[in-house]
Amino acid sequence: MNQLSKVASLAIVVPCYNEEEMLPKTLATLLALRDSLINQGKINSASKIYLVDDGSRDQTWNLLAASSQQNPAIVAVKLSRNRGHQNALLAGLVSTTEDMIVSIDADLQDDPNVITKMIDAYYQGNEVVYGVRSARKIDSFFKRVTAESYYHLMKKMGVDLVFNHADFRLLSRRALESLKLYTESNLFLRGVVRELGYPSTCVEYERHAREAGESKYPLRKMLSLAWKGITAFSTAPLRLITILGLVSGFASFALILWVLFIRFVTDTAVPGWASLLLPLLFIGSVQLICLGIIGEYLGKIYEEVKRRPKFHISEIIKRNNDQG
Ligand code: UDP
Ligand code: MG
Repeated sequence: MNQLSKVASLAIVVPCYNEEEMLPKTLATLLALRDSLINQGKINSASKIYLVDDGSRDQTWNLLAASSQQNPAIVAVKLSRNRGHQNALLAGLVSTTEDMIVSIDADLQDDPNVITKMIDAYYQGNEVVYGVRSARKIDSFFKRVTAESYYHLMKKMGVDLVFNHADFRLLSRRALESLKLYTESNLFLRGVVRELGYPSTCVEYERHAREAGESKYPLRKMLSLAWKGITAFSTAPLRLITILGLVSGFASFALILWVLFIRFVTDTAVPGWASLLLPLLFIGSVQLICLGIIGEYLGKIYEEVKRRPKFHISEIIKRNNDQG
């Protein structure tokens, strides 16, 4: 194999929603980075930048269309309407054909120069390279605390996310093809990528403030993504009902004994008190336990309907018998 054929092609995927203010700078930066990587011999000249317009209402699409006319390294993809960051990103990822695929936000808050480190990690044999924020200096206290508690909560519920990693990452072609096998509609990329396996590593970077335009992730969307992450990956909330049912069942049992004691051993019981309280306690906990049982099955059905791949083969060594 000659040296040239070992140089991989790179796709940079950028979801864009109303990013007209940021795009000229983003395009210039990413194109310059592409050129410099080609010059360094780290990527080949078939490398492309995929920009996905997520149904923007400003000049984003016109800008993208014009740039791709001028420069064949730019691929412009337009979604029929706004489908949200995760879906736009996915649309970009599945449009690529290159060997390495890096996803990055259009506002370049994530340092694009780190892509070089990601590529080095790829050549060292890693198929998933996570961009991890080293500091959360620019975040508000609120965002930092909520984000960090979220990771801890997810971990408690059995979902293993990479701490301080969002959607800035490199995937190998093989990792991306495996990712495509997750056909669930509520796809939570950060969680699914973690499920893939394959050799992976992290590269650290400092996240900058947004240079132009404003955040397209208001609190409402952030909470919805967080909730999506929980419900797409964990049936722990359903299990919680079973636990609650059992706890209340035991508590009711103790209370029932107490009611019986007051009713039959002492003479302080008001008429009608025990006959009201006993069925109330009994039925209440029976209902919760039944809900919990239904929840357990619902959880199983949920796992089944997602039809997630059961494994990804990373290597097969097979030798013919006659080869000694
Ligand atoms: N984005 C998108 N669709 C949306 C919202 C956001 O494609 O509905 C893109 C946006 O253009 C940006 C990225 O997702 O490239 C991250 O958004 P933003 O920078 O506003 O989020 P923040 O960094 O504030 O969390
Ligand atoms: Mg941003």
